[in-house]
Amino acid sequence: MNTSLCPRCGSELLEDAWESLRETEDGGFIMDAYPAYVCKKKCGYMKQIDTIPTIIAQQGDDRLLLLYPDDQGRILDIHSSVIFPPMHLESLLGRGYWEDYQGNHDVEQLLDTVSDSRAYDLETPNLFQFETSTPEEAFLSWLLSWSSQLYRSVDRRLYEAAADL
Ligand SMILES: [Zn+2]
Repeated sequence: MNTSLCPRCGSELLEDAWESLRETEDGGFIMDAYPAYVCKKKCGYMKQIDTIPTIIAQQGDDRLLLLYPDDQGRILDIHSSVIFPPMHLESLLGRGYWEDYQGNHDVEQLLDTVSDSRAYDLETPNLFQFETSTPEEAFLSWLLSWSSQLYRSVDRRLYEAAADL
């Protein structure tokens, strides 16, 4: 789908993860990693991929479906301020009732306020391990599993959202 060419040498651009080491004010170092297009011939051209997603669907007012590059989708739960790991868009769409997105959220602002569920170093419940009769039930079981005490220390907000059910 991506047919971009290097503006410097005209060769193909490859999608890659770009890492950069940045010195902080207090003399420490921070490793930044982000997806980028890199020239196949390594002429030095690199362009950071714009990863600001598009909201394409919603479930009620609380849950948004975000579209990322490569058909990856992520569910953002506004109520519990959590964004879930990327999954293939078709899987997500096939496992729930989605309505067309009607709102006008500022995605960048929204992303600044939510916690990424991947940021926690712990095995977390996997939505697809719940085989139930309907997608709605699967989602509910999955959310409920977050209410186990084990996850309380992982994410209090998510825990509380699940405990509310
Ligand atoms: Zn090039």
